[in-house]
Amino acid sequence: MNISDIQIRPASIADAAFIAKNVMAALGTEEVYAEEMPEQVLKIWNIMIQVCQTSGVLYSWENTLIAEYEGMPIGSLTAYDGSTYKESREKTFAFFEESLSFDPDLMQDETKAGEYYLDSLAVLPAFRGNGIGKMLLQQGIETARRKEIPHVTILVSPTNPKAKRLYSSLGFREAGEVFAFGEYFQRMKLDTTEPMRIDILTVLPEMLDGFLNCSIVARAQRKGLVEIHVHNLRDWTLDKHKRVDDYPYGGCAGMVMQCEPIDRCIEALKAKRDYDEIIFTTPDGEQFSQPIANELSMKKNMIILCGHFKGVDYRIREHLITKELSIGDYVLTGGELAAAVMTDAIVRIIPGVIGDEQSALSDSFQDNLLAPPVYTRPADYKGWKVPDVLLSGHEKNIRNWEFEQALERTKRLRPDLLED
Ligand code: SAH
Repeated sequence: MNISDIQIRPASIADAAFIAKNVMAALGTEEVYAEEMPEQVLKIWNIMIQVCQTSGVLYSWENTLIAEYEGMPIGSLTAYDGSTYKESREKTFAFFEESLSFDPDLMQDETKAGEYYLDSLAVLPAFRGNGIGKMLLQQGIETARRKEIPHVTILVSPTNPKAKRLYSSLGFREAGEVFAFGEYFQRMKLDTTEPMRIDILTVLPEMLDGFLNCSIVARAQRKGLVEIHVHNLRDWTLDKHKRVDDYPYGGCAGMVMQCEPIDRCIEALKAKRDYDEIIFTTPDGEQFSQPIANELSMKKNMIILCGHFKGVDYRIREHLITKELSIGDYVLTGGELAAAVMTDAIVRIIPGVIGDEQSALSDSFQDNLLAPPVYTRPADYKGWKVPDVLLSGHEKNIRNWEFEQALERTKRLRPDLLED
């Protein structure tokens, strides 16, 4: 299956039976997916369907996003504003009365005001392992940002380290425990208001000035969505001549950046906050790509180390670097341009940076398709015409045309993108 064929949409009341199963599965009742449900499970499912059809309850269809594949719902995320929790919980539990298998009075609050709570996430067993849960979570985080709720929270069972790793990769951090439904859960929390922070380490800070002060990257900093700090490695050397490089062992040509200034600078940064990634720009690294940019745009704090000369002392790469990235198969003089390329690609897709979310999502590569051609006024320039369909005002035909163009261009120019 191709992940670009997955659509995320708000649920409708008609999805209630599907949502009910997923809520139960998320609570540990996987038997709901069995062809023949055990009688007790069927009984709860029937009640749960009524719950999901109702407004103002925890598991309402109104709180739910659906992942759809070829017109079929295959996953869902039920999430809501924590300020509505108490009232909704009471209303929800009233449906179950005697059939609760735990004592609701012993249950701690799962969430509270100031949190957007991701209550139930489930993907049909046959579709797991395709990144669908992650898509739903990302959409949930975006919803919280749009609603300007400062935190997103989620509970994870200590017996599910895989889910915990997924949440960590999206920027969730451990935040205590909650006793609910008769067991302990780990609480994980993500801050939607603190900006992302990128620290760039370089011997040529001037190379980054212009880039950081222009266009979308500048606007993202002004909006407080990202903080970018450039550190001159010469400020971190203990050498009185401010040297940061030395001759290579073994006598080959060129100079190598020394361990000490880099290590001291990184140590000082790490003492102040946790870093999700310490990236080294290097032509022998993994090739930077849109999926990597998407991944990194969800991180909180990152360091990007720019190499220069012949590169950095290999011990830095062995002991401090967590990710090595190349921007292509050619050799640059220094890592500054590579750091700029990565920073630009990462920052422009942080939710809220580009006003019209759609515009970043419809770019080339986001759906494994190249973008269709674009035109602007005038419709006729020197006899060069804009395709008629774009002037027709017929929304559906225009979308179809764009899709056909995108597909045709991808087949012709980048067939490799369509391979899996
Ligand atoms: N001798 C090294 C290249 C050094 S170029 C080698 O052959 O691997 C100097 C610095 O520029 C590198 O340390 C790296 O930080 C940066 N750089 C050069 N080309 C790059 C590329 N394609 N992608 C990312 N960084 C690059």
